Amino acid sequence: MSRPTDYHLHSNTTEDSVATVEQLARAAAARGFAEIAVTDHFILGYDNYRVTVEQLEAHRALAKELGGKLGIKILLGAEVDYFEDRLPEIRAFLDSFDFDIVIGAAHFVDGRGIAAEPGAKALVRDIGRTEAFRRSLRAVERAARSGMFDVMAHLDVIRKFSETPEDREPYENYAEEAERVADALAESGVGFEVNCRGFSHSTGGQYPGGEFLSLLKSRGVGPVTVGSDAHTARDAGADIDRGIDALRAAGFDRLARFERRRATLAPLEEFEFKR
Ligand SMILES: [Zn+2]
Ligand SMILES: [Zn+2]
Repeated sequence: MSRPTDYHLHSNTTEDSVATVEQLARAAAARGFAEIAVTDHFILGYDNYRVTVEQLEAHRALAKELGGKLGIKILLGAEVDYFEDRLPEIRAFLDSFDFDIVIGAAHFVDGRGIAAEPGAKALVRDIGRTEAFRRSLRAVERAARSGMFDVMAHLDVIRKFSETPEDREPYENYAEEAERVADALAESGVGFEVNCRGFSHSTGGQYPGGEFLSLLKSRGVGPVTVGSDAHTARDAGADIDRGIDALRAAGFDRLARFERRRATLAPLEEFEFKR
């Protein structure tokens, strides 16, 4: 029995993280993880959020060295933002390194970064919360349809700065867009992640939320990974088990394992969980 892999961790290669690859790996190993994936941002147009191939190659060498020392396997991936007008550059990046997993992301709606508070608040102020939810999911749908990614990140991350447990956007207000996301994923064979950062955000739960997860299950969407989306060593592996509880509640019974962008599926019973 082993702990599930944490497939979403950020190193201080990009400016939003304060943890080195080694600090992430040490923290995860201390929590019993046998495997993690470091998935730094690749956001065209934002130089402080764009891992380079040289940095990835350095991480690969470090991963080998640390793996033996710490007893943890360190996979290398990236969290790549989808921009329709920059597809050749995104493709070139994806072809330039032997990634274990590529997570697709749609962090921008109408040019505003919705995973950061100023952008998210400005969007909701300008177009209203319901429309912000709908547009953010349309952006996810377009990225999913491209088929360029292995899994899509935090499908409803728009909830991060616009929901609290007491004040939620009713799911039915964006159910149609959620269905289109599910169809796009199912038709293009792209999976999704259960992103566990949301447990420490004001929304208080994983991305995607429970109703969205049930929809994804009913449409047969997969492969499915879990990730802490940690930007500090303290958060490495955090709340992974709560994310898996949410997956189980929605009827999922398998998790994907990725290596060199190939997925294999394993029953949830094969993993060790901690509560
Ligand atoms: Zn993200
Ligand atoms: Zn991330």
